[in-house]
Amino acid sequence: MPVESKETHNFETEVQQLLHLMIHSLYSNKEIFLRELISNASDACDRLRFEALTDKGLIDEGDQLSIEVSLNDKDKTITVRDNGIGMSKEDVIANIGTIARSGTKQFLNSLSQKKTEDTQLIGQFGVGFYSVFLVADHVELITKHASTNNGHSIRWSSDGSGEYTLETIEDDRRGTQITLRLKNEANEFADSLRIRNIIERYSDHISFPINMLKKDTEDEWERVNKGAPIWARPRNEVSEDEYKQFYSTLSYDSEAPLVTLHNRVEGNIEYSTLFFIPAKAPFDLFDRERRHGINLYVRRIFILDDSKHLMPNYLRFVRGVVDASDLPLNVSREFLQSNRDIDRIKSASTKKILTELQRISDKESDKYQNLWNEYGQVIKEGIVEDSDNKTALTKLLRFNSTHSPSDTQNVSLDDYVKRMAMKQKEIFFITADSQNMARTSPHLEVFQKNNIEVLLLTDPVDEWLVSSMPEYDGKMLKSVAKGGLDLDYLNTQDNDKDSKQDKPDLSDLISRMQELLGERVKEVKISQRLTDSPACLVADDQDIGANLERILQQMGQQSPKFMPILEINAEHPLVRQLSPDHEQLENWTFVLFEQAMLSEGASLPEPAAYVSRVNQLLGKISLLGG
Ligand code: ADP
Repeated sequence: MPVESKETHNFETEVQQLLHLMIHSLYSNKEIFLRELISNASDACDRLRFEALTDKGLIDEGDQLSIEVSLNDKDKTITVRDNGIGMSKEDVIANIGTIARSGTKQFLNSLSQKKTEDTQLIGQFGVGFYSVFLVADHVELITKHASTNNGHSIRWSSDGSGEYTLETIEDDRRGTQITLRLKNEANEFADSLRIRNIIERYSDHISFPINMLKKDTEDEWERVNKGAPIWARPRNEVSEDEYKQFYSTLSYDSEAPLVTLHNRVEGNIEYSTLFFIPAKAPFDLFDRERRHGINLYVRRIFILDDSKHLMPNYLRFVRGVVDASDLPLNVSREFLQSNRDIDRIKSASTKKILTELQRISDKESDKYQNLWNEYGQVIKEGIVEDSDNKTALTKLLRFNSTHSPSDTQNVSLDDYVKRMAMKQKEIFFITADSQNMARTSPHLEVFQKNNIEVLLLTDPVDEWLVSSMPEYDGKMLKSVAKGGLDLDYLNTQDNDKDSKQDKPDLSDLISRMQELLGERVKEVKISQRLTDSPACLVADDQDIGANLERILQQMGQQSPKFMPILEINAEHPLVRQLSPDHEQLENWTFVLFEQAMLSEGASLPEPAAYVSRVNQLLGKISLLGG
């Protein structure tokens, strides 16, 4: 019976968008609505049990927490009821009328931009409660929070269009009951056998009893789910399909995971872990606010999710469960921060995952390539963050290189070392904005000529990576755009005769050019690295370099101002025609300098001045020609 008059509310815009999506369903398997409702019901029981640890009054002695699923064939309704924590009116408005999760909003915003991926994306994203509208044209939710003592419940109802109504009614049952009226096209779900199958398929591992009425009875309930969580069972008794089903309830991903890693650890501390690596990186992999993917259980009781304390940040794509036997049940986030057992679990889990990645990279290179394509950028962060596992991580790295023509990062440092030239001492790399920019950089010329491999690093994280990894296997990592290059050992046969040729003394020209450029450069010098281009810019060894300077600027960070060195190619015709008293020396000097900037992807501070200089020089040439 209503206690107050009915109120009508509008859904938040985002909810409306989501409902619209649901109703014009992108989901092909509508049956997941039941998984979502049962999962919410189970969370509600978990939360009540957790809060009752500190507030004993919330549960009566002998109170069995459970979930009931029932069916009314005549009305074509399905009811899911739990006696969990329940919701207050404010909770209902906050949880059911709005979308609280920032990730959800972000997801919705990203939808319109890449339509084709929508179907896939929505699968990996929990639509939760709203999935009822996949099958229902009317939904009623009655709920009472465990701490409400006035005998009143809240009734929420909606047909999934723009609005919902709220009423306070007399009903003293703790927890939440959701009744949905099936749409005509979803009548297939008005079948108790079908419902049983769905529960067995998706919700078997739920630790609370999920009860349904016994066939042909009206008050005899029987348990449908087995309830032994999958991670607590021996590995050889769990089928691939069971892992996959569990993974999909955990991650909302309909695709099978790429990696499944199930372990039981005994010894000082006892715990089980079940980890998955999704086949596709989540859309919010680079979102720092995103929820972490590990759920912590203590003796099969759910404690917390988002446990960043259980997995390093660079493995944030790993989903799964840690179930520890020896932790207290009232674990809080603060407790996790400073607990030695948790630290040990984290460190052992990290090693397990890295070892498995190494195994895949050794034995299943195609699969490893998939993994790297999805997660490589994030794994690279590990080199910077995790000095303990740096050696293991370096083995996992893959790069583009001048010796692998595809645009896939598929060269390991070991591959590189194996291919090094006889006397080559260093591992050469170039950092740039893009593959194209890297491959066409003038800095590569001398390496290409001598067939020396150069790693092409184009992810923003690469700059940090190389600065945290000065060497590999006793060989220094060396930027081709920095410092002096000692390539004499490369200049064998044909270069010998060049060096014997009398080289003109360019020191006057160089000092003149340096004067003209003033503060813009640290130095002008003769290049060792150019064969085709007339000039390029390089950085001193200890300077940050142009690429990192650009990245920092794009991130809105102050970067230390660095002055490049202008290197000129003494063999190039444009340089050879110059002399200290050349009439157009100033124009030539600036054009060479600015072209060098352009060729490494920088923008010119004064593009119009550059154009005018080039035109003056072109004018001279055409006057001469004409
Ligand atoms: P999610 O469960 O992923 O947070 P949902 O849309 O499924 O998203 O649910 C939104 C919120 O509504 C939940 O986080 C929870 O606070 C609340 N809720 C949903 N179902 C229940 C329930 N059966 N009992 C208590 N609270 C619930």
